[in-house]
Amino acid sequence: MPRFDFDLFVIGAGSGGVRASRIAAGHGARVAICEESRVGGTCVIRGCVPKKLLVYASQFSEHFADSAGYGWKVGEPAFSWPALIAAKDREIDRLEGIYHRLLHSAGVELYQGRGQLLDEHTVAVGEDRVTAEKILIATGGRPWLPDIPGRELAITSDEAFHLEKLPERVLIAGAGYIAVEFAGIFNGLGSEVTLAYRRDLILRGFDDDVRGTVEAGMRSRGIDIQYHCVPARLEQANDGIEVTFSDDRRQVFDCVMFATGRSPYTWGLGLEDAGVRMGAENRIEVDAYSRTSADNIFAVGDVTDRINLTPVALMEGHAFADTQFGGMDRPVDHANTPAAVFSQPPVGTVGLTEVEAREHLSAVRVYRSSFTPMKYTLGQRDEKGLMKLLVDDASDRVVGCHVVGPDAPEIVQGFAVAVRAGLSKAEFDRTLGIHPTSAEELVTMRQPVDN
Ligand code: NDP
Repeated sequence: MPRFDFDLFVIGAGSGGVRASRIAAGHGARVAICEESRVGGTCVIRGCVPKKLLVYASQFSEHFADSAGYGWKVGEPAFSWPALIAAKDREIDRLEGIYHRLLHSAGVELYQGRGQLLDEHTVAVGEDRVTAEKILIATGGRPWLPDIPGRELAITSDEAFHLEKLPERVLIAGAGYIAVEFAGIFNGLGSEVTLAYRRDLILRGFDDDVRGTVEAGMRSRGIDIQYHCVPARLEQANDGIEVTFSDDRRQVFDCVMFATGRSPYTWGLGLEDAGVRMGAENRIEVDAYSRTSADNIFAVGDVTDRINLTPVALMEGHAFADTQFGGMDRPVDHANTPAAVFSQPPVGTVGLTEVEAREHLSAVRVYRSSFTPMKYTLGQRDEKGLMKLLVDDASDRVVGCHVVGPDAPEIVQGFAVAVRAGLSKAEFDRTLGIHPTSAEELVTMRQPVDN
């Protein structure tokens, strides 16, 4: 008779939790998982997937506008927000169904409800009490917004996916991933967009050339970017939400969206009582094996606030299951994690920024190309893309690759293999370009820029 109901109980059926439970079950473990909301988690239900669908929708306006240069004559395009949201919802329902089937076919038992630790081996889900030898916390994160008067009038990305109608005037607070992506979405769909940021350049943490190129592309699309200003107060007015900014200016918007970061979703889980040590800002502290300070409790994904990206949560969940149930030794390695921002223009990036490279290496060669993507020429779109490589001068190794422009995320996925493999600039130079593409720039840049 086993001592516990399950070998593994997972709290949270998002990317990390579902991956970990399926892999553990594949290794022969008896696994259960609980979810208080919809199976699939942030990425599938209210993040990456619906966001990308909205990005696709918003790009059509640009395609319609540019098509004239290619000889097309299109009538006055008409857009229906309810039709888009309904189509998006159908797709999310379909994907959620796939996630349910994946769990079922892996033999993972699903408990619908919020999980709470009663002790280090017992989880309460509603009326159920379930015991497990090992417990994995994979509860993700939740939007965080500053505590300003009237903040209940604002939305976050969670609600943006379910607005009844497309707002005419949108204010977005913040300048990280979500802010710039939604600025592009609303702008492309026809809203008037203002982005308010407390510092002086969007996308802090990305390479400065990337930040400047995206900013220029956003401005040229008509997005109003306001620096050194944040919404300080929101009030309901007759014709919308009146925003008082930190510099005392006032302006009325139909929708105010905060994209000011996300917090690990750890409250009310009973973690401290189970001996789990918490780090700053509610994150669960873990080591490279995703072990918490409690022997049998583990955590993966955004709840640990390492690198908050879906593929990272998948990697952490997979490595955890292989190590704990598959007899393997798989610490996680977050170096050279590639990332994309689905802004307009989009970004693909892997490795060090120029500032980081100069900080860590004694000499850095910088290769940079700023050019008009061929696609834009006949459309007469006056916009430059960016290709940038950073090379460690001592080893000739490419340590950073940054692209802004059409298909940048698709381009960088391939180059991430090269950067991860530690290939040299000479290897890049020996690789032939595919002509005519934008990506060929990355293997044809020969002259470093003057430092
Ligand atoms: P980010 O951390 O990327 O950006 C938060 C933004 O809000 C920053 O511009 C930050 O400013 C600003 N901010 C923070 N606190 C305040 C405050 N008190 N007042 C005013 N501004 C504030 O968070 P997001 O919400 O955009 O995204 C959350 C996470 O989700 C990301 O970190 C990313 O990991 C993930 N994500 C990934 C995507 C992708 O892979 N394409 C897409 C969407 C999300 P400052 O720069 O000064 O700190």
